[in-house]
Amino acid sequence: MQNFQHYIDGRFVDPDGGEWFDTYNPFTGKPWARVARGNAADVERAVEAAHAAVTTGPWASSTASQRGALLRRIGDLAAQRAEHLAAIEVRDNGKLMAEMLAQMRYMPNWYHYYGGLADKVEGSVIPLDKRGYLNYTRYEPLGVVAIVTPWNSPLMLTAWKLAPALAAGNAVVIKPSEFTSASVLEFVKIIEEAGAPGGLVNVVTGFGNEVGTPLVEHPKVAKVAFTGSDATGKRIYAAAAQTMKHVTMELGGKSPNIVFADADLDEAVNGAIAGIFAATGQTCLAGSRLLVEDSIHDAFLDRLVETVKAARMGDPAKMETQVGPVTTRPQYEKVLNYIDVALGEGATLVMGGEPGRRPECGDGWFVEPTIFKDVRNTMRIAQEEVFGPILSVIRFKDEADAVRIANDTMYGLAAGVWTRDIGRAVRMTEALKAGTVWVNTYRATSYMSPFGGYRQSGVGRENGAEMIKEYLQVKSVWMNYGAPSAN
Ligand code: NAD
Repeated sequence: MQNFQHYIDGRFVDPDGGEWFDTYNPFTGKPWARVARGNAADVERAVEAAHAAVTTGPWASSTASQRGALLRRIGDLAAQRAEHLAAIEVRDNGKLMAEMLAQMRYMPNWYHYYGGLADKVEGSVIPLDKRGYLNYTRYEPLGVVAIVTPWNSPLMLTAWKLAPALAAGNAVVIKPSEFTSASVLEFVKIIEEAGAPGGLVNVVTGFGNEVGTPLVEHPKVAKVAFTGSDATGKRIYAAAAQTMKHVTMELGGKSPNIVFADADLDEAVNGAIAGIFAATGQTCLAGSRLLVEDSIHDAFLDRLVETVKAARMGDPAKMETQVGPVTTRPQYEKVLNYIDVALGEGATLVMGGEPGRRPECGDGWFVEPTIFKDVRNTMRIAQEEVFGPILSVIRFKDEADAVRIANDTMYGLAAGVWTRDIGRAVRMTEALKAGTVWVNTYRATSYMSPFGGYRQSGVGRENGAEMIKEYLQVKSVWMNYGAPSAN
């Protein structure tokens, strides 16, 4: 079996403790490679290497244009290797080849975009209320950035952080999910080939308590950029506070997808399905609560069920597959447990509700696409993030009712609205408490558009030109040039 080592200070190295763990293919349920099991000593080496890169190495004296050029080379190479990277992601996390190919072909944009921005961050001269002083601002890198990622879109969610972090002049230590470590270790080969100096990008693999904790507590780490569950996010936020680190947190969601009776219902059916069943429901922005107006509730549900029943489940590596396995064994068990929770709470099962046992599913961790109706928004199935192919359908009476139900959650990552009434569309975009609101579409994201959560869905934003400043700090410089009235 292939071994994936850490990548520290420009070299692939064995773990300090000499231990390894298996990584699994969710479609076969079997291990396909071994990954280095990191510890605090590995973290120490990686943080020191990154720190040296931003203080004494060639990166520390690089110009913004040189940094931009490196990022664009990374983007070019990533584009050439999109198929290879997609194949690794599919094997390690079970997402559909069709989805991962599209994602890997889109991902290089982050490196090109932030590469272009690297030399366009400008300080300013402040007009001032005092005479005799020159006051100006300059933006400086934070130093060492820790990037901690989940298993659902490993390379894409790394790009959201890595591209702006490097463009801003930082060095990084990446801790990928213990379930999907392989792809980022392939990706660092691209970074090396693009000409990155040793120590600029480091990867330490392993478990949250053994690698994540020492990394987010390390005094030389200036910022933690995290995507993952809200429970882990809260722990990391608290740990980061001890040394006043900057943070960005992209956490969970329980996003409402709201269908009004006046919507284009064909489009809305497709949007509801893409909202929850893409990536087998394992996306933070999943539209896991489908709010449907009373007058169309039954007819809409019939159309939805008819389409979902025709979905092809099976081998995620085949382009025609529409529903793949759940990525991890614990997640598979968690999803099945939520089906019992929903039934126990009195929700009505409309379809699915059991493991995927079709012949095409083999020994993989499949769950049938599942739809519940008669869900009340107070139920756990409507309040807690399942992160799997389970849709909760909730009725609403009118616009005010829809807003009340949609906002009645601790999360606020995203929301969808389906209507042909332009006035209503605008009113809804104002009333919904979510970092992203889609009208007559669902799931669109871009490297140019800010993404992040209201309330307990996160802190800060990723993507878009402004967000490079999440990786910079501003210095205010005062010079007394000796004019007569200086005071
Ligand atoms: P997770 O929180 O269990 O793990 C995320 C990462 O944190 C992993 O690398 C893990 O090893 C690490 N970690 C765990 N404990 C740690 C600790 N104490 N200190 C430091 N690091 C630690 O999340 P997951 O199960 O891998 O991913 C699923 C979650 O990610 C879902 O809740 C989903 O909503 C969220 N997510 C959010 C977004 C977003 O952009 N908002 C995108 C994708 C996924």
